[in-house]
Amino acid sequence: MSETILIAGAGIAGLHAAMALSDGARRITVLDRDPPPPDLGPDEAFESWERKGVTQLRHSHVFLGRLVTLIRAKHPALWTALLQNGAREHTFAEFLGPPLRNRYRYEPGDEEMSFLFSRRTTLELTIRRYVATLPGVTFITDAGIRGVLRDGVRVTGLKVEIAGAMREMTADSVIDATGRTTQFPDWLGLENTIAETSPAGILYFTRHYKLRDGADEPPRDGPSGAGDLGYVKFGVFIADNRHFSITLAVPEIETELRTAMLNPEVFDAVCRQIPGTARWIEPERAEPASKVFGMGNLLSSWRTYLDGDTPRVLNLYPVGDAAQRTNPLYGRGCSIGAIQAHFLPEIFAETADPAARLRRLRERSQAELKPFYDVMVKQDEQAIRRAANERVPGYKPRLKSRIMKSFVEDAIGAASRGDLTVARAAMRAFHMLEHPTDWTKRGPILARILKTWATPKALKRGLYPPKAGPERAEMMKALGIAA
Ligand SMILES: Cc1cc2nc3c(=O)[nH]c(=O)nc-3n(C[C@H](O)[C@H](O)[C@H](O)COP(=O)(O)OP(=O)(O)OC[C@H]3O[C@@H](n4cnc5c(N)ncnc54)[C@H](O)[C@@H]3O)c2cc1C
Repeated sequence: MSETILIAGAGIAGLHAAMALSDGARRITVLDRDPPPPDLGPDEAFESWERKGVTQLRHSHVFLGRLVTLIRAKHPALWTALLQNGAREHTFAEFLGPPLRNRYRYEPGDEEMSFLFSRRTTLELTIRRYVATLPGVTFITDAGIRGVLRDGVRVTGLKVEIAGAMREMTADSVIDATGRTTQFPDWLGLENTIAETSPAGILYFTRHYKLRDGADEPPRDGPSGAGDLGYVKFGVFIADNRHFSITLAVPEIETELRTAMLNPEVFDAVCRQIPGTARWIEPERAEPASKVFGMGNLLSSWRTYLDGDTPRVLNLYPVGDAAQRTNPLYGRGCSIGAIQAHFLPEIFAETADPAARLRRLRERSQAELKPFYDVMVKQDEQAIRRAANERVPGYKPRLKSRIMKSFVEDAIGAASRGDLTVARAAMRAFHMLEHPTDWTKRGPILARILKTWATPKALKRGLYPPKAGPERAEMMKALGIAA
């Protein structure tokens, strides 16, 4: 008999789970509380698609190379549809700064290091329409999952509210892709499923803009569209159909700034103070296409349904944010969810034993995803400390911190900007194509990094980015906020 699968949630992870598991034999039902995408184009969908279940829907989104490569290899028709709907591939060569771009020569593997940029509404509606064409996949939308059906430790299905009526739907396996607010632990009566958690330490603010008719994006060779000023991090996200967005991430400790940031005038005023964002929103170039969206309570967390090696529940497999949440700054959440969803068919093929399947899902997630989580947590701890220090006038970091900062800026950063081999290694890790930090320990790469570190600053001036923006006090003064 063919296997039946209920996928709870039609976000990025749920859609990828359906893509991964659809083989023509399995009967897959994807349930979501929200309505389907409107039968309209990307611009109309951005305006009108109600997605109460995905509060981050109108924040900037990018897919990393590992996910881009996966889509191109396994779902080429989806890749074509994404590009047709306006999503933008940004290649490794385009990403490189001027010193390296002029010396760039293609090497096999470079094509794996493309970003995919687009408004998330466009990404989701395109993936959703593609998944609807796959064999054995059915969507039920406006369907609120209200609980689980279970037989002891075994999950046997879901209680679902559709059009005001409760239905009981059974299945061999249930995939929890309901995102970061998953209620499965509550429905199962399980406490302490979160093994680790830590604050992202920031609030996210995003505003969308549209290029005016006849206007172009600024040339690539100017000041960088992404950077970290300590008291604010900024990023310009190119998007589909002549749109782009700017995200400003403000440390939680910056109470006055974050309170003011939802005001579009303040948001734009901050952008105008930062050369890398200012040129994008010049009045003759672009006009605002949205209000400022804000989001807080950003945590990272790692969940497990195993107690040692013993599953606390069977036939339930969490993927995406329901399994682990990451700081959005790293742009990894969708890639992590999609990669994890694609573990499922391989694990299901290896064994039919639900306990072994859950253990294997943990094993693969630990091996391929957890290192990124661990490095992120450390970097977030450092960023939170840095944001606190920014507020102390005349603060002098300790020697160890100064050495670390010098290694990051004068060695790794400078080498990544001046040495194509180092840039490639760094970006492979950034795109989740290999371990996040092991590349810095590989002999030949480390030698190049150390050589750059040892080079006197006067001889490597061209390897430093120009100052990304004003000091904190200067910015606050420009905004009329007490420093
Ligand atoms: C501000 C912000 C910016 C981000 N930027 C990026 C980025 O640039 N790149 C990146 O890769 N990641 C980014 N992320 C992370 C990314 O958005 C998430 O990792 C990703 O959406 C997780 O996908 P998911 O399918 O697990 O959950 P979601 O996308 O949250 O989807 C969950 C789905 O489950 C449904 N659902 C929930 N509860 C129920 C229920 N009871 N009944 C029925 N349906 C239900 C919801 O309606 C929703 O459709 C960002 C996150 C935030 C917060």
